[in-house]
Amino acid sequence: MNIVIMGPPGAGKGTQAEFIKNKYQIPHISTGDMFREAVKKGTPMGKEAQKYMNEGKLVPDQVTIGIVEDRLAEADCQAGFLLDGFPRTIVQAQALDGVMEKLGRKIDAVINITVPDNILIQRMSGRVSCKECGKVYHLVFSPPAVEGKCDECSAELIQRSDDNAETAAKRLQVYNEQTSPLLDYYQDKGLLRNVDGDRDPKLVGSDIAASLDKA
Ligand code: ADP
Ligand code: AMP
Repeated sequence: MNIVIMGPPGAGKGTQAEFIKNKYQIPHISTGDMFREAVKKGTPMGKEAQKYMNEGKLVPDQVTIGIVEDRLAEADCQAGFLLDGFPRTIVQAQALDGVMEKLGRKIDAVINITVPDNILIQRMSGRVSCKECGKVYHLVFSPPAVEGKCDECSAELIQRSDDNAETAAKRLQVYNEQTSPLLDYYQDKGLLRNVDGDRDPKLVGSDIAASLDKA
């Protein structure tokens, strides 16, 4: 299965990606995670990306398309993949179509998780993740067993620097302006599956599984 998961920042894409990648045994490719890794390592691309991420803006298309194209050519993507956070612009979506055509493949489904804006802000402001394994928690909705420590590996939990109120609001604005037009793009192709994300994560997950099983 070649799947794209969409939705505004904080909708629960990463949370649901964990379920999907285990069920379908496909790699989870998050461009946000790839950029955060590059920032952590201090690579030239990471330094470039960080300027945009800190302001809640999109990293330029040429940079983003290049890293996704390289990643999709890797061996573990040959039996399918789950793209999270990409595409985010029409230019990126058209580039993805071009890459798929070159590889002789197609996107099977685009899952769109919908959540009201006021809930998204609560989700981003309470999100913390493990410094080592990346597992995502929420201070109120899904707290760790021991405060500040990962349930899986006991490492420290940290907050993303772009989850502060000002940058989170900017990211929502950027989503509405630049990314939401993609919903029509995929609707027109008959690929879009809308899922109500304002419910228990397990219920959201079973709706996603049901719509993917039909894809
Ligand atoms: P995204 O990848 O779309 O930005 P995440 O999966 O990181 O979103 O989720 C954002 C925050 O909301 C996290 O703290 C996560 O634990 C929490 N969260 C995710 N899904 C739900 C849900 N269905 N109900 C309540 N909280 C959720
Ligand atoms: P995310 O983890 O998906 O919330 O992404 C965090 C940040 O990384 C975004 O606010 C952007 O600055 C950058 N980013 C991630 N994916 C993309 C993309 N497809 N295009 C441009 N910028 C991206």
